[in-house]
Amino acid sequence: MTKPAYKRVLLKLSGEALMGDDAYGINRATIERMVADVAEVSRMGVELAIVIGGGNIFRGVAPGAQGMDRATADYMGMLATVMNSLALGDAMRQVGVTARVMSAIAIEQVVEPYVRPKALQYLEEGKVVIFAAGTGNPFFTTDTAAALRGAEIGAELVLKATKVDGVYTADPKKDPTATRYTTISFDEAISRHLQVMDATAFALCRDQKLPIKVFSIVKPGALKNLIMGGDEGTLVHV
Ligand code: UDP
Repeated sequence: MTKPAYKRVLLKLSGEALMGDDAYGINRATIERMVADVAEVSRMGVELAIVIGGGNIFRGVAPGAQGMDRATADYMGMLATVMNSLALGDAMRQVGVTARVMSAIAIEQVVEPYVRPKALQYLEEGKVVIFAAGTGNPFFTTDTAAALRGAEIGAELVLKATKVDGVYTADPKKDPTATRYTTISFDEAISRHLQVMDATAFALCRDQKLPIKVFSIVKPGALKNLIMGGDEGTLVHV
């Protein structure tokens, strides 16, 4: 077997990726399939950290939060990411992958706090590290948490999992002539107004020269293929 193209990566999953075809929450079959993909990559010796969103449960900007104090609603959103992280960690345990959930908000009876040297140690030991509670601050998103933690742990790449297999010249659902970029620079993505990650996350990755790979989490084998260096998704580079 040829060697993986990356040693350490940060995978960003949206909360919605866990919903499958459901309207809310966690779909069992979907999380199991996702974990099988992650487990395969972890067993190849790739050091893997994951940031998971909370949009399948609660978002600070959701209609249900209307009229609420924004910071309070955002803390609820962060707690939603903790629930998803626990579900993900447990699903990994069930397939024999050791995962550690680390939270940016102290809830020590439930999950250990995020401590950078400890996260690095877990990664070196081959454990999957799941970063819960985003950045720990309201007014941010888990995309930004992914960029931040990715930079902190020295990841070679931020993998942004989406339902589409990359960044397109136009919305492929609306425009049949739309084509996928294999690679695109940060500057070109900005000048073409292409939405890759939210603006704060994007700026952080660009400043830190941390490339982003946008790929499809619903396409079977895509995660492994891109880890092996295959033509998958879109690489956003400096
Ligand atoms: N959130 C936050 N700070 C963070 C990360 C997340 O306040 O650093 C809150 C925010 O309310 C957000 C929610 O948690 O709407 C869920 O995160 P996100 O929307 O990024 O999840 P995703 O869209 O990836 O499922």
